[in-house]
Amino acid sequence: MTLHEFDIIEKFFKQQPVLRSDVILGIGDDAAIAQISPSQNLIMTTDTLVESVHFLKNTAAFDIGFKALAVNLSDLAAMGATPTWITLALTLPEVNENWLKEFCRGLFELAQRYNVQLIGGDLTRGPLTITIQAHGLTPQQQAIRRDGAQADDLIYVTHTLGDAALGLLYAKQQISIGATFADFILKRLHRPEPRISLGEKLRGIATAAVDISDGLISDLGHILKKSSVGARVNVDKLPLSPALRESVSYEQALELALSGGDDYELCFTIPKKKSAMLDFDCTCIGMITAEKKLDLQAANEKPYPAKINGYQHF
Ligand code: ADP
Ligand code: MG
Repeated sequence: MTLHEFDIIEKFFKQQPVLRSDVILGIGDDAAIAQISPSQNLIMTTDTLVESVHFLKNTAAFDIGFKALAVNLSDLAAMGATPTWITLALTLPEVNENWLKEFCRGLFELAQRYNVQLIGGDLTRGPLTITIQAHGLTPQQQAIRRDGAQADDLIYVTHTLGDAALGLLYAKQQISIGATFADFILKRLHRPEPRISLGEKLRGIATAAVDISDGLISDLGHILKKSSVGARVNVDKLPLSPALRESVSYEQALELALSGGDDYELCFTIPKKKSAMLDFDCTCIGMITAEKKLDLQAANEKPYPAKINGYQHF
């Protein structure tokens, strides 16, 4: 039997004995947390994009540069961190100056927006692969982890879900989309907006957070597992864009919102009494429960049957 992605990490990489007392949080969250001064924590994450796995072969170089950084900043956003520095390890099949120029334009446009500096990296020849390591800072002990959700907390997601998965179906020409929505969903696929300022606002009020990279069910599942809790989610509350609602059946829209990857929205939990402090676009989709299982319900409180899966590389 082959091991799944998370089993491999558990069985091999989590086996190193703890050597350092300045590691506040190691493997298992959106990013790691280290103690670097009495007042600040360093937050670190890395993510790789591989051609034909994370993006289609014909994807514009600008979009590849943009997204390679966006997915990393999204993990920092999920921790409530303010991004600071990145390193870039780039594997290229050949030198194409136009491609490199466009790639850097996409990368630097997003970096500029969040005041992030490229400070190093590596360059090798091989199949197109982009790895970015991103660093950020939070005030001491204020990073938002996956393990703090409590029974009765409310569960929220930012903006809308399922758009990137719809964009992928469209980019692969597996679905037709009206001209009014095509630009929007391709942008949602190729240029995800890391929710940095929302993550910063959630410091001190959210009890747990994760970014939705592999699908809501899978990523909310990480919060539930780490926090030893369960959840009741009302699928009729899932925020769906007009583009998604009008392009596929309601059932398919829910499936994409629940299991589709690449949205890079935040899913977070918050005590009821603090939810009035949320002053940005987000939607309450359910509640944390003490019983360790995920219940999906429709508005009539009937169980909602969903194919439960998220993207796993192995
Ligand atoms: P995310 O989707 O938020 O980027 P992943 O699901 O990729 O997170 O990874 C889950 C956790 O496992 C993260 O904390 C990540 O740092 C860690 N991880 C993944 N691969 C490895 C590895 N090869 N060695 C050590 N830790 C790893
Ligand atoms: Mg993540």
